[in-house]
Amino acid sequence: MILLIRLAAGLVATAITLVAGLLLLGFMIVNEPAAGGGLGPDGTPLLLGQSRLSTEQLTTWWNQTGHTSASTVDGATLMGLYSDTGARLGVRGDLAVAQAVLETGYFKHFPEGGINNYAGIAVHDGANRGASFPTAADGVTGHVALLREFADAHFADAPVHAAEPGCCPTVGSLAGVWATDPDYAVSLLAIYEAMLASAGLPPEETGGPGSTPGGPVELATVDGITVAASIAPQVHALVTDAARAGLRLSGGGYRSPEQQIATRRANCGPSSYDIYEKPSSQCSPPTATPGTSMHERGLAIDFQCNGRLITSHANPCWQWLNTNAATYGLHPFNREPWHWSQDGR
Ligand SMILES: [Zn+2]
Repeated sequence: MILLIRLAAGLVATAITLVAGLLLLGFMIVNEPAAGGGLGPDGTPLLLGQSRLSTEQLTTWWNQTGHTSASTVDGATLMGLYSDTGARLGVRGDLAVAQAVLETGYFKHFPEGGINNYAGIAVHDGANRGASFPTAADGVTGHVALLREFADAHFADAPVHAAEPGCCPTVGSLAGVWATDPDYAVSLLAIYEAMLASAGLPPEETGGPGSTPGGPVELATVDGITVAASIAPQVHALVTDAARAGLRLSGGGYRSPEQQIATRRANCGPSSYDIYEKPSSQCSPPTATPGTSMHERGLAIDFQCNGRLITSHANPCWQWLNTNAATYGLHPFNREPWHWSQDGR
């Protein structure tokens, strides 16, 4: 694969600068990407967002291919590194794996000098020595961070920089920029589709990340609380009647899929396992896995009482809600005194 990636002006790709860049990256707090997966305007998957395939699904797919990694670590380890690094940097780990597999011929062929270089990084026309990374984890970070920089103009923390940060938000837009091959995206997506088929998942357009079960939610904001329009009138009536009883209810209702992912990251941990698979009960506080929260349907509210989160069943607002909320179609979730929803979950 001939690549067009150029080093940013002034950055020399010596091992020393790469190590320094990686150390720096480790200390940086990475901004969340704005996009949350799904398809871009060109009809190909967005690079930023959640991976559709879990570490386990990627590993199962890898084992089914029958290939053996010629890298410094085995294929299963690479799947885990891509999953975790993708979740940490807000990049689709599954798409990054598909790209690495395309660039290296299933982790068998690396650019000259390119130890742990999984994406032909810094191999460009007229010079075939690639960047080298001290460990497999550094190599995956270098690749995933570079993808983030390709997709996100505000991200500038990749150890090896993109020539045009923000040029390429989708798989389709990489063609002609990351690689000269005009069919680059077609080849990459063929690998990705084989991964999806291995996991029994449908193609992107019939339910990718960012989609909500049951379709988009029609929203309305009442008394500062955004909820599904279908329950907005009753929520307004409830807040009004509580105020008559001297209790000021406020709170947070609807969460976008991206907000649910951010909440899981904050409450459950940073890895893709933490965000997408860990049981809700092991998070603090318990938080539903993305795609399953009543908040994502606008049918749950985390209530505050006179400006403070309701954390006890002794709270006067909880007591009032316990007596009255059912009249307005809201039910308690007993482990979380603040959380009330249409079905008590
Ligand atoms: Zn809640």
